[in-house]
Amino acid sequence: MAQENLSVVLHSQGDLRLEKRPVPEPGPCGDRVAIEPGVPRETDEFFKNGRYNLSPTIFFCATPPDDGNLCRFYKHSANFCYKLPDNVTFEEGALIEPLSVGIHACRRAGVTLGSTVLICGSGPIGLCSLLAAKAMGASQVVITDLFSERLTVAKELGADFQLNVKRGDEPQQLAKSVTDLLGAQPQITIECTGSESSIQTAIYATCSGGVVVLVGLGSEMATVPLVNAAVREVDIRGVFRYCNTWPMAIAMLASGKVNVKPLVTHRFPLEEAVQAFETTRQGVGIKVMLKCDRNDQNP
Ligand code: NAD
Repeated sequence: MAQENLSVVLHSQGDLRLEKRPVPEPGPCGDRVAIEPGVPRETDEFFKNGRYNLSPTIFFCATPPDDGNLCRFYKHSANFCYKLPDNVTFEEGALIEPLSVGIHACRRAGVTLGSTVLICGSGPIGLCSLLAAKAMGASQVVITDLFSERLTVAKELGADFQLNVKRGDEPQQLAKSVTDLLGAQPQITIECTGSESSIQTAIYATCSGGVVVLVGLGSEMATVPLVNAAVREVDIRGVFRYCNTWPMAIAMLASGKVNVKPLVTHRFPLEEAVQAFETTRQGVGIKVMLKCDRNDQNP
């Protein structure tokens, strides 16, 4: 296709001309940025009311057929590139993505000063929810997991209580353990495992009138104590990715209110991507970082 740039140009009052002007080349951006992977394609109702993550036509990096941005050079909508302050590293910039899930979950749950929170699961998403909940003012957070190593990391990141769950544990019994730790039922539960039994625990554990947000994505059908939630007015809310979180996340990182650095346990150069994914698949460590820039292999 011919490259031309037909332009309407006002030269002076009454002198409006159509001109073929050169196609502008994108300038070297030059800025250090973090990218938000979800870019709405249209100005639909979801976009207009600020919940663009729900737009059915949204573009999302690495969602098929897009190959994603694990590459050396990537072109992305400038509106969804956020300038990083000098004191925020590229690795921290990359971790804004999972941190955003935590921020969005806490917003959906209504975490505020003094909230008591149960977080189910200490994977990257549960840990990011923990960081966000604490930064938003949660006074006490209980966090669960099947693996004690992950609970140790959760403790380092600020969890007040850790609950080591064993497969086969009764959800109602686990809910009671949560109450025993806190001295009361939590007002909010952020479910970050997707496992059916953990969703059951989340509902039983949450105090009447409280909120359960479902972040973990398990099987489409799940047997959960819905009537128990209904008669106690426990609200169950979904979470789908995030929206409007990058500016808040950058501010939290730049001010030192949140420290995501301990989440990175492994680093691989881009050439060793297959090995990096295998490390993740084996469940070793927390976050495995792929270093795409040959000249920036540092933390
Ligand atoms: P992960 O697999 O690394 O972590 C899950 C953790 O939950 C693991 O540490 C595991 O040991 C623990 N766990 C499993 N069953 C448990 C149980 N019954 N009780 C307590 N702990 C249990 O995954 P992740 O990257 O942290 O992501 C967590 C979940 O969030 C996944 O289901 C993922 O698909 C989902 N997710 C959802 C969104 C969204 O937009 N809703 C976004 C990102 C991730």
